[in-house]
Amino acid sequence: MSDDELKEYRKQHHKAYWLKNKEKLRTYNREWRKQHLAEVAEYAREYRLAPLNWLKDQARQIAKRAIQKGIITRGFCKIQGCGEIGEAHHENYDKPLEVEFLCKIHHLNHHYQLTLQT
Ligand SMILES: [Zn+2]
Ligand SMILES: [Zn+2]
Repeated sequence: MSDDELKEYRKQHHKAYWLKNKEKLRTYNREWRKQHLAEVAEYAREYRLAPLNWLKDQARQIAKRAIQKGIITRGFCKIQGCGEIGEAHHENYDKPLEVEFLCKIHHLNHHYQLTLQT
């Protein structure tokens, strides 16, 4: 089996599994959320209250609005050879209008690497 075939096979397999267990998975998710409602709410509250997260949210919203107004042009992922459309990324949340563009995957990667460093 070639790589592509394997990939396709896995995808189909995954999809079939999901379709077969859709209801079960859905109920499971619902039950999980119900049981962990307090934790989830607590997590969300802490997230919002943490000063750094608040700053991040602000920066993101400012950048988003700037893109909508055309002040910032949405660019392509800055990783060489990627070519995907990017999402705004802040290297410094104190400067909400200084953004770089990274596609979803490279963006996640970048943040993951950042957390590994700290
Ligand atoms: Zn980012
Ligand atoms: Zn990319």
